[in-house]
Amino acid sequence: MTILAVRTFNDPILRKKAQKIAAITPHIKKLAQDMLETMYLSKGIGLAGPQVGISESIITIDISQDGESLNPMPLINPEIIKTRGQCEYEEGCLSVPGFRGSIVRPEQITVRYSTLEGEVMTLPVKGLLARVIQHEMDHLNGILFTDFLDQNWWDSEEGKQMELDHPKFMRETQYRVEKNKQPITQSK
Ligand SMILES: [Zn+2]
Repeated sequence: MTILAVRTFNDPILRKKAQKIAAITPHIKKLAQDMLETMYLSKGIGLAGPQVGISESIITIDISQDGESLNPMPLINPEIIKTRGQCEYEEGCLSVPGFRGSIVRPEQITVRYSTLEGEVMTLPVKGLLARVIQHEMDHLNGILFTDFLDQNWWDSEEGKQMELDHPKFMRETQYRVEKNKQPITQSK
């Protein structure tokens, strides 16, 4: 097992669209294991390939972070095929350490993905799991949760702190989302 370096803030790989995985090779299986180990060590509940410098369509999730019963979920080539409802929830990100913010997303989703064994699953999910899957899938499209933060957040103490700590990142992510919550497409 290898602990991978987590990319943060202005790393351009975080803005690239990830490639679909054509075949689940031993390399991909090892990557999934390394991502899970890296995620656990970083006390995260989700991690996406681009966050460890791999621009491929893989995410790992485990929302059972109670230190007892682990439930690791590697998802290969995930796609959201249905969404329902809306809810607001506070998110954080291993690639944007030290900052959190509330954003609105669909409350329930149906996700289709391949397991590490190559089995295609269609899974309806809600609550925290639905939230984490959406956040991680954004990473596969070059989107960060900060892209969804509104003017109120940027005017808050936390927003002002980000401006001080990471002025370049702040300029690049601020106001990227219009009122309809659709991220502005970034040139690749
Ligand atoms: Zn993230």
